[in-house]
Amino acid sequence: MSQSPAILWLRDDLRLRDNPALHLAARNDRPVVFVYVLEDVSSQRDRGGASNWWLDKSLTALKQEITNKGGQLVLRRGDALLHLREIADALATQDVFWNRRYAEAHREQDEIIKSSLKDDGFNVTSCPGNVLMEPWKISTKDGGPYRVFTPYWKSLQNSIEPRQILTAPSEFAPTKSIRSDSLKDWGLHPTKPDWSDGLNDAWTPGEAGAWDRLSEFLDGAIADYSNKRDIPSIDATSRLSPYLHFGEISANAIWMTVTSAIEAGEVNEQAARKFLSELAWRDFSYHLLYHYPTLPNENYQSKFDRFPWRDDEAALIAWQSGKTGYPIVDAGMRQLWATGWMHNRVRMVVASFLTKHLLIHWKAGEDWFWDTLVDADHANNAASWQWVAGSGADAAPFFRIFNPITQGEKFDPDGDYVRRWIPEIAELDNKWLHSPWNAPQSALDRAGIVLGQTYPKPIVDHSGARERALEAYNQIKSG
Ligand SMILES: Cc1cc2nc3c(=O)[nH]c(=O)nc-3n(C[C@H](O)[C@H](O)[C@H](O)COP(=O)(O)OP(=O)(O)OC[C@H]3O[C@@H](n4cnc5c(N)ncnc54)[C@H](O)[C@@H]3O)c2cc1C
Repeated sequence: MSQSPAILWLRDDLRLRDNPALHLAARNDRPVVFVYVLEDVSSQRDRGGASNWWLDKSLTALKQEITNKGGQLVLRRGDALLHLREIADALATQDVFWNRRYAEAHREQDEIIKSSLKDDGFNVTSCPGNVLMEPWKISTKDGGPYRVFTPYWKSLQNSIEPRQILTAPSEFAPTKSIRSDSLKDWGLHPTKPDWSDGLNDAWTPGEAGAWDRLSEFLDGAIADYSNKRDIPSIDATSRLSPYLHFGEISANAIWMTVTSAIEAGEVNEQAARKFLSELAWRDFSYHLLYHYPTLPNENYQSKFDRFPWRDDEAALIAWQSGKTGYPIVDAGMRQLWATGWMHNRVRMVVASFLTKHLLIHWKAGEDWFWDTLVDADHANNAASWQWVAGSGADAAPFFRIFNPITQGEKFDPDGDYVRRWIPEIAELDNKWLHSPWNAPQSALDRAGIVLGQTYPKPIVDHSGARERALEAYNQIKSG
């Protein structure tokens, strides 16, 4: 007798390889129908523009892959529960599978759907989501959550039980055809205007793109990861973050691939372990998000509730558009706008500049990143912004204020990064590149720069802004 199909509800796990829920659903060659619902839940945060662009391409790639293997990906919009019930009815099945997600609004939604389906007699199977360790599986000696990364990382290494990478099914048995929306009708790709050229040039969303990137990284840049990962002008990091966010590759598969390469002596061990520790920062962010679900909206350290943030629309717009007059900050913000991604070192510098030099609330920066990053992530974005602002768990102390001039000089000494993203100051000598306002008039003339016209004068004075930030911090320090 032919088996009824299983339904696999996809969310942030847009892949066929190393997908635990798919592995269970497709056991014994059982037919699987893939479902993706563009959810319409008011408690869930709307995806930003760059994430919508990525999702569009990722679903296109996945649909193609599933279709090539004889299966179907059903796209629906609206209430996931209604659609799952209707599709299950049409397929005469009662088995639904998914991989877990960890943001509070997602967990609550999944809980509601799970119990409703169970009340209706469904079998619902949920599997571990895209983390190395589920957030509740790792705890301090006294049973609480970790708040500091280093002991978390130690504990993770001792307790991790990576699974062998699960292979993707080679084909899917045919099933009754189910009505699907057209991806085009979802309008995820930007129009009027279409600002996505830079994203198209920079990325190949989808599972194949993820594995290509990992292989390329293991064949090349990982060797120098430890000493070059802070240099924004070179491709020294993996750029796997958006693929991880959308679950086009699993953290487990990256862990297994890298540790196998270490064991086989194929990569520099010290550099590869450093890379794995960065991957673990992502897990730590999820650990924090799970245990402190208000992390994306509220200060982890409540004393920051009294911090005298400034409302300064003009300064916020200058920051967003890469026109602060500080080249390393502006280069980062323009890289973000053009490609949907920014180098980690520069993310730290621009976030420090917004929260400390401009005294603008970290939430305004987190919102902008949410809209513009292709890797915008509930856990990583919130945890990282709070880390830089000083309000987070295991955060950089507030008084450690990045100097945008010396950061530029240290991490972009030849100015390649700044010249790439700010062509209007490209002709300036290295000596002045990170502080054009200090350049003598003759140097500015030679480079064709008119400060305040072709490139902005600094919107704040570094030393004055630093003093102001420290004074603001003094007001809450004792709390
Ligand atoms: C203000 C700010 C906001 C950020 N917002 C996000 C975000 O929305 N989404 C996001 O994925 N990352 C975010 N990060 C973390 C980090 O900048 C990116 O993960 C990293 O730059 C991605 O590039 P990569 O894949 O080449 O990293 P690699 O250096 O190759 O690292 C491999 C993977 O490890 C994880 N990782 C690396 N560094 C960190 C870190 N500091 N914190 C958490 N995970 C890390 C990422 O998943 C990354 O893909 C933010 C950092 C800052 C300072």
